[in-house]
Amino acid sequence: MSKKTKTELENNKLNKKLRHAVGDAINDFNMIENGDKIMVCLSGGKDSYALLDILRQLQASAPIEFELVAVNLDQKQPGFPEHVLPDYLESIGVPYKIVEEDTYSVVKRVLEEGKTTCSLCSRLRRGILYRTAKELGCTKIALGHHRDDILGTLFLNMFYGGKLKAMPPKLVSDNGEHIVIRPLAYVKEKDLIRYAELKQFPIIPCNLCGSQPNLQRQVIREMLVDWDKRFPGRIESMFSALQNVVPSHLADIELFDFAGLQKGQKLKHGGDLAFDRETLPQRFPSQDEDEESTPQTETKKVINILASKPKP
Ligand code: SF4
Repeated sequence: MSKKTKTELENNKLNKKLRHAVGDAINDFNMIENGDKIMVCLSGGKDSYALLDILRQLQASAPIEFELVAVNLDQKQPGFPEHVLPDYLESIGVPYKIVEEDTYSVVKRVLEEGKTTCSLCSRLRRGILYRTAKELGCTKIALGHHRDDILGTLFLNMFYGGKLKAMPPKLVSDNGEHIVIRPLAYVKEKDLIRYAELKQFPIIPCNLCGSQPNLQRQVIREMLVDWDKRFPGRIESMFSALQNVVPSHLADIELFDFAGLQKGQKLKHGGDLAFDRETLPQRFPSQDEDEESTPQTETKKVINILASKPKP
């Protein structure tokens, strides 16, 4: 097999794998419904480019109709290349809106030199994006966070926040007006890195604001990358744990009625295994080992869900 053919095959496989993972997440969380207008938040980073790209592919094959509109918030950071996103979006023919708001100056003015800027900056950004979604009549807001962002948030909250809390694939905004979705929830970051190289997305650097990177998040990210290399399957197992929560075997009295436990009640989740040796699998199957998929199987689940909803 020629080198070119081999590369093409690998690229197709990666593309299928991403469509499959995004389709599964959309299906599992009922993220997209017939008639939705989805605002895809585009930062210029690899994740949001991939998000838009995969959603467009699914839009073309799904038997329901939904609209996509790409939105970028130009926060007026020095050196922000204003032409890059409009040029790209024009070239692929996606409806889009660039919102210009100088949050950079606001953050610089309000916060003292040396203070962390991200918290205020992201709060301002969130408010602007919610407002924009309303103006555009969007029913959903899609963000480009991926599986490793979700796990990273879980560890950040455990290590520094004293909470068993990650980042939800789907949520309602604080004011109750918007549904936010994360269709890349099942996608590995390393696949997004490869995909961005393959598609040659015109990446805009994320350090234009001059802010220090979030060191705690960076440390956790490196920890996850290291585990992934040394213990294949561990990351998959941890993400799976987020989908297999056993409240009766944690210690949250709000989540489970420990006070009301009575003798003779039915066993909960296998009862108390504290004195037993649990049987643990040697290894959690990695997503890479999934059975070979076809374009049909990739979108099948999402299509089934979406198709079951009648068109208005
Ligand atoms: S890195 Fe810069 S642009 Fe991003 S949230 Fe922080 S301050 Fe805002």
